[in-house]
Amino acid sequence: MTFPAANRIAKLQPSDIRLMTRECERVGGINLGQGLGDLPAPELVRDGAIQAIRAGLNTYTASEGVPPLRRAIAAKLRRDNGLTVDPDGQIVISGGTTGAFAATLTALLNPGDGIVLLEPYYGYHLNTILLNDLEPQFLTLTPPDFALAEAALQAVIKPNTRAIVVCTPSNPSGKLFSAEELAIIARVADRHNLLVISDEIYEYITYDGLPHISPASIDGLAERTVSIMGFSKTFSITGWRLGYAVAAPELARAINLVNDLLYVCAPSPLQYGAAAGLQASQDYFAKLRGEYQRKRDILCTGLTAAGLTPIVPKGAYYVLADISHLGYPSAKAAALGLLITTGVAGIPGSSFYQGREGESLIRFCFAKDDETLHEAIERLAGLR
Ligand code: PLP
Repeated sequence: MTFPAANRIAKLQPSDIRLMTRECERVGGINLGQGLGDLPAPELVRDGAIQAIRAGLNTYTASEGVPPLRRAIAAKLRRDNGLTVDPDGQIVISGGTTGAFAATLTALLNPGDGIVLLEPYYGYHLNTILLNDLEPQFLTLTPPDFALAEAALQAVIKPNTRAIVVCTPSNPSGKLFSAEELAIIARVADRHNLLVISDEIYEYITYDGLPHISPASIDGLAERTVSIMGFSKTFSITGWRLGYAVAAPELARAINLVNDLLYVCAPSPLQYGAAAGLQASQDYFAKLRGEYQRKRDILCTGLTAAGLTPIVPKGAYYVLADISHLGYPSAKAAALGLLITTGVAGIPGSSFYQGREGESLIRFCFAKDDETLHEAIERLAGLR
């Protein structure tokens, strides 16, 4: 006899990221699919964690995280995000940004509530919405700017809509939301009393001198926004599983209750490593941006040369490219076909859309070493 999984498991929509990684390993290809963040973690961060382990800071912490990290985050929020928050009551350290996002949905929304998700979306956002028995309400943003219009946002709001997810800089589009677009969200959220859940994991990875704007810093949004941030991308420590939510005290209290039940706390010594990292100079963050911008330019130039039109990202470390001219019946067929013919793996655009829009796109990740990028470009050049 087999025991069936819960009904909500059948609703999940796993992306093709795992499939492409598996297939890529099988054929010995170059994986530009999954974003692992391949830069070395800064010494400051590694040393901070090692010192904490040596000092015996290896036990459970308070579920909201250790005070030195919460204080360092509050200082960083003031300095870099224009946000003034109380480190003792408005910050919850969690198991990755992923954990903070999941705890937020469980703590603040009820089954059946509607939540606006902008397409193209990050697959974990959709699946965490489905896992919480919420109703995703999609609004498609169109390349190359993925601009948000007030009338379009207004049109997807239904009587059960309670929240909207914003991802800036966005995975997979690399879009940065402008102050004007965030003001649109503020107006619509105010009109319908919506919660704004803002994933800012790529906040330090923006290009061409463009600024990252935290939604909570926009007039009218501070009280109704949960800012979800983390360290995976900023310090290239995706395996440490450290992130946090920032919210008004009563919201943070509920998020922390769920966080406690799901994770107990984030890994203790690693919290001290992240606190050390937040003391890094502005020079570190400028170098991080410069390094990824250089990699973005290498890959976009290579894609253009191969005849795959890239939608040049303004942030994060992915690029969507148009593959419609290759004549495949679907994005998945194109991604698998490309892997076989060139040995380079990307992610089918259909992993980020409900509708047909994703079928002409493929996503490549450029958080890879230069040699890997150059080798991939050489192989893709065979498409010409
Ligand atoms: N949010 C977005 C938009 C991402 O792209 C990713 C990772 O790719 C995450 C969250 C995961 O972050 P974390 O490692 O902090 O859980």
